[in-house]
Amino acid sequence: MGKLEPLPGTSDLWHPEAAEWVRLENTARRVMGLYGYAELRTPIIERTDVFVRGIGSDTEVVQKEMYTFTDRGDRSLTLRPEGTAGVMRAIANQGVGEGEEKRVFYCGPMFRGERPAAGRKRQFHQIGVEAVGKLTPLLDAESMVMLFDYLRAVGIDDFRLLLNSRGTREDRQDASRTLQEHFRPHVEEMCEDCRRRLDSNVWRILDCKVEACRGFVAQAPPIVDLLSETSRAYFGQVQRALDAFGIAYEVAPHLVRGLDYYEHTVFEVVSDSPHLGAQNALAGGGRYLIELPGSRKPIPGVGFALGMERLMMARHRPRQESPGHGPVDVFIAILGDQAEVCALQLSRELRARQVRVLCETEGRSIKAQMRTADKCGAELAVIVGGEELAAGQVTVKYMRESRQEQIDREHAAPSIAATLGRKEDPEGMY
Ligand code: AMP
Repeated sequence: MGKLEPLPGTSDLWHPEAAEWVRLENTARRVMGLYGYAELRTPIIERTDVFVRGIGSDTEVVQKEMYTFTDRGDRSLTLRPEGTAGVMRAIANQGVGEGEEKRVFYCGPMFRGERPAAGRKRQFHQIGVEAVGKLTPLLDAESMVMLFDYLRAVGIDDFRLLLNSRGTREDRQDASRTLQEHFRPHVEEMCEDCRRRLDSNVWRILDCKVEACRGFVAQAPPIVDLLSETSRAYFGQVQRALDAFGIAYEVAPHLVRGLDYYEHTVFEVVSDSPHLGAQNALAGGGRYLIELPGSRKPIPGVGFALGMERLMMARHRPRQESPGHGPVDVFIAILGDQAEVCALQLSRELRARQVRVLCETEGRSIKAQMRTADKCGAELAVIVGGEELAAGQVTVKYMRESRQEQIDREHAAPSIAATLGRKEDPEGMY
């Protein structure tokens, strides 16, 4: 049978990269926890409607990228392409009272039918946060500060924060006309999608990735200049708060991000790491106003999502060959059938002390067993054999030094655990 590769745009994640992944998630839980965000796990699969309403039917994601199918009950279901819509559905079910706030953190796989490339996958993973219920510039700034804290905590330094404002829905009505006037004379030279967007949703043009369209976008008036006094003041407050926090940013005059519900602040973190290439956006987010079913008026929120694959690329840890098993501290070699029970007992005693153990299971020659002990990366090999047992002892071989010693079977587990300095928190095992 030939090799069965994972689908294009998806991949298998082996140790030690899988362990790195867990570390990135746990660091996010810790850092976001410092800001009062608590984890929310929503289903990976939802009714299609959750995304169409949550993300907007006129978006690139909904129109071109969703994995949607009809299930046996004739329901239209979708694999989540992003986290916010599901989070909002969950929050709507609980309700957000007047003056109340919900702060949630999420992470996990997302699915988009995009053309796979370096840093662009069909199953990718995001870490995201949402603070729902309050509208204040300080909260927008705090969300970006938290993103900075997280990136620094996972060892990423070479990035830039791009910042802009899209004002409010009312601002955008006037601004839309100005933008349409700007683009209309060039519409024939723009891509097919943008020709349609000119009248249906001119803001989408600002987010177009086609080179020809980007040229006309660069000449468009800065969005902030088209906003009301109040919205500009809000944006000024966000910038002053970031200054006070000592966070550097660049105003990106045409950054609007892909979704309609963004209001006021939008931001993106791009990496300058040479390992990312064209897909250099590490994270994106902003403030939004969203209609939750059952609430009297739209609810404000602010949040962002980070791409974990790109985080891994930006960190650029050299790829290591996977050994096919987890890290091992001790290999237990067995000499003779009688030693088996003793070896199995010892392996349990060691594991109870947080020592990672591989134990021989096949009764092979001692030479073959020691080869495994060497290959699996164990620091110690413990040899349990007839002779040792008779003397009430086991042999401990220090794999990185050329020495070995006999120790009492009775005290073997605590003694080996102490040699390995195994007092650590079980979390550290991963
Ligand atoms: P978005 O939800 O499109 O704003 O994306 C937020 C972040 O998720 C981006 O900045 C990327 O880091 C990451 N991301 C989005 N789409 C993909 C993808 N197809 N493959 C890998 N990462 C992605």
